[in-house]
Amino acid sequence: MINLILLGPPGAGKGTQADILVRKRGLLQLSTGQMLRDAIAAGSDLGKRVKSIMDKGDLVPDDIVVGLISDRIDKPDAKNGVIFDGFPRNVPQAEALDKMLAGKGLKLDKVILIEVPDVELYRRVEKRVRETPPEKRRSDDTVETLKNRLGVYHAQTKALVPYYTKQGKIVHIDGLMSIDEVAAAVSRALDHKPGSGWLAALWRWLKRLFGGGK
Ligand code: AMP
Repeated sequence: MINLILLGPPGAGKGTQADILVRKRGLLQLSTGQMLRDAIAAGSDLGKRVKSIMDKGDLVPDDIVVGLISDRIDKPDAKNGVIFDGFPRNVPQAEALDKMLAGKGLKLDKVILIEVPDVELYRRVEKRVRETPPEKRRSDDTVETLKNRLGVYHAQTKALVPYYTKQGKIVHIDGLMSIDEVAAAVSRALDHKPGSGWLAALWRWLKRLFGGGK
């Protein structure tokens, strides 16, 4: 079992990489954005509540997304592991996730940060707007909304990088590479066991030497 977060700005390719991991490793993709879009499509009360927030590119309240994740993670199809895609989006959500996983006896293995500069994200959204008919586009996939979504990313979501760096879980991946190259880098990151390299062995030896023999 492996539980991971795909982290990165809107349009970095998190969904694309999640699809690949679902196919290759049988992991369950939990995309809060998709769950919310499903709720809107179903016309539920939740959908009605979040539609205008999402169209603006703002974050929906933490308790809503934490509730969605918590309900879904207990289902049997999560047994091989889960890819959190688009969640958490801020530090309180990350803290809620840590608590939720600990409460279920689960742990987070890796946080994959797909890094893409803002200019490239604008280029990508402009291309999608040009090439995708309006009825097939997400209603928040516009240059104007991207501006706000990127503002939210820089103001709130980026704070997760130091948060997970402190936990020693983050892996940086260059999202400007091709889809296949990013997928290969993600795969390498997931297969790398922490503590298996010579540096980790040296660190353990030093700790034993100076740290009271543990
Ligand atoms: P995404 O599909 O991840 O790009 O999310 C689309 C939109 O759904 C976001 O712009 C937010 O309005 C909302 N959303 C998705 N995930 C979250 C989350 N974890 N916390 C708050 N809002 C979210």
